[in-house]
Amino acid sequence: MHDHTSEDAATIWMADGNCRNYPPAAFFPSDGVGVDRARKICATCAVTATCLEYALHNRIEHGVWGGCSERERRRILKRRRGLSVVSAD
Ligand code: SF4
Repeated sequence: MHDHTSEDAATIWMADGNCRNYPPAAFFPSDGVGVDRARKICATCAVTATCLEYALHNRIEHGVWGGCSERERRRILKRRRGLSVVSAD
């Protein structure tokens, strides 16, 4: 995943992320083209769901996580709040 310095139990799944083969900057794009590029890498990743939930749970604002951009994650969180859905984790 983006940050290989924090591989404790909560982030052990990061070792299986496709992004380990790419520079971290690829997941912090500055435009839509970069977001699409990162999303494509996430699309074939084995830990997409875990990654997305990690980012949502930790309220990570920046970067593409689990195939979702910052804006998409904000939308997901808003929707979950609106539905009063209790987090599944
Ligand atoms: S879903 Fe994307 S950001 Fe998350 S671990 Fe996989 S490749 Fe990395």
